Amino acid sequence: MRPRVPQPAFLLLTLTACWCLMAADGPRASDPAEKVFKTKQGDVLYLTLHVEGEPSSVEGRFRDRRVPFFKTGRAGEFGALVGIDMADAPETDTLKAEITYPDGVRKRVFRVAVAPEDFREQRMTLPKGQVDPDAVALKRINLEKEKVKAVLAGFTPDRLWGAGFLVPVEGPVTGAFGSKRILNGQPRNQHNGEDIAASLGTPVKATNDGVVRMVDEHFFSGKGVILDHGLGLFTMYFHLDSTAVREGARVKRGDVIGTVGQSGRATGPHLHWGAWINGSRVNPFALARLSFDR
Ligand SMILES: [Zn+2]
Repeated sequence: MRPRVPQPAFLLLTLTACWCLMAADGPRASDPAEKVFKTKQGDVLYLTLHVEGEPSSVEGRFRDRRVPFFKTGRAGEFGALVGIDMADAPETDTLKAEITYPDGVRKRVFRVAVAPEDFREQRMTLPKGQVDPDAVALKRINLEKEKVKAVLAGFTPDRLWGAGFLVPVEGPVTGAFGSKRILNGQPRNQHNGEDIAASLGTPVKATNDGVVRMVDEHFFSGKGVILDHGLGLFTMYFHLDSTAVREGARVKRGDVIGTVGQSGRATGPHLHWGAWINGSRVNPFALARLSFDR
């Protein structure tokens, strides 16, 4: 039996894609079938769907990653943050959304074009022990990686954040997201956050409402906090001098969660700010550039 769904104006789609500092709002479209939504590696798309009736859930998938939609608070509108990983293939793909009603499921498909980002190379010289850790340190590093992986695999089924995302510390970016790092002449992983320089002890604010999922001290990233904002969105704050929150605590947007430091592998006081959306490493500034006012 065909699902009975309201017709004809079943669904409209608008898109806010933030890919440059000057344009807070990207192009919008009313006919998804004719539009390819443009984004780039490491970016975040904010999609909104307008539906009629009362679906019990709206869930999408893009490149084997889930795209959970939430009620925006406006009549008939659902929204979702779509993370584009820094290493995502620079190709056009489909985003499939399922709108589930009590008597059936309606499917929609949208096209998303991922452009390559021009990530730069960054060469750094560091003490040998920080680039070639010994066996004891390697064991610790691997355990820390597993712990972070487990935290990021968690999924809180509610959206905990509300208004726009704050930049946690003001200051110059000294280590760009996605930069290809060469430490003491050896290629390393791409930098998965933004390094914002600030003086020692500067308060670090929560970018948005959430729950503290990790407070720990790691070999490379030093003292850190991971916040869970719900629906698979996490933000990370590392190299802190001090932490001001406990695991499990609720935080509000703008709450101080710690202070800027240079704990772990750091050449000077700065905040390493990272963001993760359902398996995608994204530029946290892409979150801060999103506009939710229409
Ligand atoms: Zn960093």
